[in-house]
Amino acid sequence: MENEQIITQILHADRRAGAEHGSLHKPIHTSVAFGYATPQELAQVFQGQKPGYAYARQGNPTTAALEDKITLMENGVKTICFSTGMAAIGALCLSLLQKGDHIIASSFLFGNTNSMFNTLIRLGLEVSFVDATDISNVKQAIKPSTKMVFVETIANPVTQVADLMEIGAFCCTAKLIYVIDNTMTPAYVFSAKKTGATFAVQSLTKSIGGHGDALGGALTDLGEFDWASFSGILDDYKQQDSRLWAATQIRKKGLRDFGAALGPEDAHRLALGAETVTLRLDRTCANALQLAKALSSHPKISKVNYPGLSNHPQHERSKKLFKYFGSLLSFELKEGFNCMEMLSQLKIAVNSSNLGDNRTLVIPVAHTIFWEMGPARRASMGIADSLVRVSVGLEDAEDLISDFITALDAL
Ligand SMILES: *Cc1c(COP(=O)(O)O)cnc(C)c1O
Repeated sequence: MENEQIITQILHADRRAGAEHGSLHKPIHTSVAFGYATPQELAQVFQGQKPGYAYARQGNPTTAALEDKITLMENGVKTICFSTGMAAIGALCLSLLQKGDHIIASSFLFGNTNSMFNTLIRLGLEVSFVDATDISNVKQAIKPSTKMVFVETIANPVTQVADLMEIGAFCCTAKLIYVIDNTMTPAYVFSAKKTGATFAVQSLTKSIGGHGDALGGALTDLGEFDWASFSGILDDYKQQDSRLWAATQIRKKGLRDFGAALGPEDAHRLALGAETVTLRLDRTCANALQLAKALSSHPKISKVNYPGLSNHPQHERSKKLFKYFGSLLSFELKEGFNCMEMLSQLKIAVNSSNLGDNRTLVIPVAHTIFWEMGPARRASMGIADSLVRVSVGLEDAEDLISDFITALDAL
């Protein structure tokens, strides 16, 4: 089973784990509490000496089945699910790091992750934001107190691609926790483990769920980091296999204590999404490449950002790293054209802020998700006023291209 493809593993995971009554989907377990025949058994579950569930804030059988599927996808050792992707990232940092620790993070991070790191700075951590497309910037930022490097695979919305392999090699030598936010390129498209990353973190809300009907996040320990050599693990969690120490600490300090648990109904929806994520990525990534090419030759467009285009600064790197170039692209209009006018002409693509949905979604970046940071910061990040982000969906490619070209021609 080890060499089976992701789709095969996911489709048969619940059945092979012995889901109740031969059920092919793990049932939705709504119970918050779990009863045991003897107080000794209950105590053993609490003490981690026996598998079982104590209280659903720390885990539930339906969520656990999803965690196992994500572990299979990522080829990791343990996954912990959370109510959102942001909860996964927050819990990771708050449970493993402490005051005075230093984080090196990409300067092109998802906006809310950037905002959360700024909160960590208020709590006494130090964060250096660097252009992670070039390993030398990461190396230059290191200090004796550096504990973690945090990057995304393909940045949203300008699609810069971090130097993922080189950063992995550097973190391995320097013994740093290496976190890859793999939301833009789920494991089928890019395996974070091959970089030597410590954790893959992802928003399940996006491509894995795919249907835009459930929020969720996951954090997977890829089994690459030696926790016995890390000073941030509390003695309570140094039990049994050292590969599981960090995951145990994150489940207790991050999930149990902060409480952003993924509910069973949402876990079920996300697990259904996981069954078809590979098929959907085949289609959305192919659509994105076709749309990116069609837009690049339009006379009213000045620039298209997509790693699959040969003029993208990290195109060669992307070819080596990824199976596909992702389903997200962005473009700028030439001087004198207004992106709001263009977007209002679209008949298929929807004005909406989500990503990785089955439907194509568009958003005027400067007016929405990057509004709060103001014009100076936007300019420094290369966010033009006319920048439009497109999360490409499953529609027929011809329909989609014609929707955009018609809207552009009408300007
Ligand atoms: C959406 C997103 C998140 C946050 O996920 P939520 O499930 O919305 O909390 C984190 N990182 C990236 C790259 C994202 O696109």
